[in-house]
Amino acid sequence: MSLNFSFLSRLALVYACFFAILCNAKYDPSDPDVSREIGVRFGPGSSGAFLAQNGMVTSSSFEATMAGLDVLRKGGNAFDAAVVVQFVLTVTEPYASGIGGGLFAVAYDSKEEEVFTLDGRETAPDAAEPDLFVGINGKVDKFSSRIDGGRAAGVPGTLAALAYLLDEYGTISMAEAVEPAARIAETGFIITEPFARNLAAHWRRLSKFPETQKLFSRPGGGPLQAGDICRNPELAATLRLIGREGVSVFYKGPIAQDIVATVNESKENPGAMSMADLADYKPIRREPVVSNYRGYTICGMDMPSSGGASLALMLNMLESQGAAFNGEWTAEQLHTLIDVQNLAFADRNAFMADSDFVSVPTDVLISKSYAQKRIGELKPNQGLSTPVSAGNPYKGVATTNATREESPYTTHFTIVDKNRNILSITSTLEQHFGCGLLVENRGFLLNNEMTDFNAHAKDSDGELTPNAPQGGKRPRSSMSPTIVLRDGKPVLALGSPGGSRIIGVTLNVLLNVFDRELELQEAINAPRVVARNRDPEIESPLYRDQALKESLEGMGYQLIDSQAVGSVQAIRINDSGWLEGAADPRREGLALGY
Ligand code: GLU
Repeated sequence: MSLNFSFLSRLALVYACFFAILCNAKYDPSDPDVSREIGVRFGPGSSGAFLAQNGMVTSSSFEATMAGLDVLRKGGNAFDAAVVVQFVLTVTEPYASGIGGGLFAVAYDSKEEEVFTLDGRETAPDAAEPDLFVGINGKVDKFSSRIDGGRAAGVPGTLAALAYLLDEYGTISMAEAVEPAARIAETGFIITEPFARNLAAHWRRLSKFPETQKLFSRPGGGPLQAGDICRNPELAATLRLIGREGVSVFYKGPIAQDIVATVNESKENPGAMSMADLADYKPIRREPVVSNYRGYTICGMDMPSSGGASLALMLNMLESQGAAFNGEWTAEQLHTLIDVQNLAFADRNAFMADSDFVSVPTDVLISKSYAQKRIGELKPNQGLSTPVSAGNPYKGVATTNATREESPYTTHFTIVDKNRNILSITSTLEQHFGCGLLVENRGFLLNNEMTDFNAHAKDSDGELTPNAPQGGKRPRSSMSPTIVLRDGKPVLALGSPGGSRIIGVTLNVLLNVFDRELELQEAINAPRVVARNRDPEIESPLYRDQALKESLEGMGYQLIDSQAVGSVQAIRINDSGWLEGAADPRREGLALGY
């Protein structure tokens, strides 16, 4: 990971001006108020969280954070700001999330003093069968071809979820909510270095999708570079159309027609999505998965995300071990941290999937008694050899161990308003640039979330696995937006991208806060140890600690030197009631409050 600081500082200055314009203020860099407003925490070297009293937004995009903050400053609530932030992300981080994708939200409604979750996950078109990814040769297509084209696209859920949040809790109209994003799409935004890097990395793949390449090309050809301006007038028009006519234009009207045509007429792996699939799409309000750890109440996302239940199982196992992880990591502590993740991952792979389609023993998996039994498998001074087998949360259940590689992409944003409403949202297209397809004339990309189903739908006994593709079903996710309460009051909200590493990333940060009592930014910056029922991945400088490494290798672990795992965006409400916002230095991120 290397970010170019001089470039970023210049960018920060440009955006400081932009922000001042947004607020109708004259920008004066020597004004201390302005420097307090523009507390950029971006990239390595940023050590402190951003502090504010009223409201806070942290996201992976300058423009999104600023637009969200602007909503809060003008009296909008966290729900309004979240909708605006997601629309802006559709424009400025189009490869990671957007209205062509899906999201999970964990929310705190301060009026009702309750946490609820919203499942805006993409859904398999009705025509999907377990052999979705079986090619004409009768074999499951390899991953690199599964990810491209209409077949990989699920029915998008993001926009329906945003409409739900706005209708039920918002104070602004859809037309107002789309406007900041539409304006940026129309006038253009500056390509950041990470954007340019991602684009370059996917450029060859995108050559299969000329419309997509065209949108992100320089006038003379080749991918946009850092510092270039990207404009997307088609997306501006799409957003304004949604603003004027409401989301039915997307799920039932002309945009739905364009989505169906794009998916089904894709040259690359055409899909089979119908107008009825789009018309039938509904976001689902669900209860959070709730667990307790040393006095904290952790509220996470239930199925079809495996995030909340896996985290609960890991934390329960750790709590039943007794000792908290104080001070610097020791080899013995890391041994526990690694194998707790391995054990939970075996259960995740075997049992977790869309519980509206298959029975998932979540209550057992998140119970203290199951965790206590499961942690009994830990061996003193010896690492478990992976893959470990799944446990048996109820008798007679067939256990399988299907794993798949999820992408390290996606985005997370967290928002708290002055009334302490909270939104913790993880949002995705799955792979960067989703399935590669830009919806005809509409300027937004479609997801490839169907690849989160098990492509090998059956286990070795020929039984369908819980996460097999099926029409109307939602693919299993790892996304783990989280809100933490203490004595019934919210104290922390966070989440991360990172595919199936998300769960371990979130666990690391929670333990750094709960047990090691680190400041929020330090808790995010600290090197992570992530295990997914395979060799553990360890970030430097921990990986380079020779003594630790030798002790762990002595226990039988093959350590992987991992680079920049996850990108956490978090807000903490501290004991004095102040908000501390922190963005992860591993990728782009900006926390701002007022
Ligand atoms: N598709 C993944 C999931 O739902 C997220 C991908 C990512 O984080 O990059 O878990």
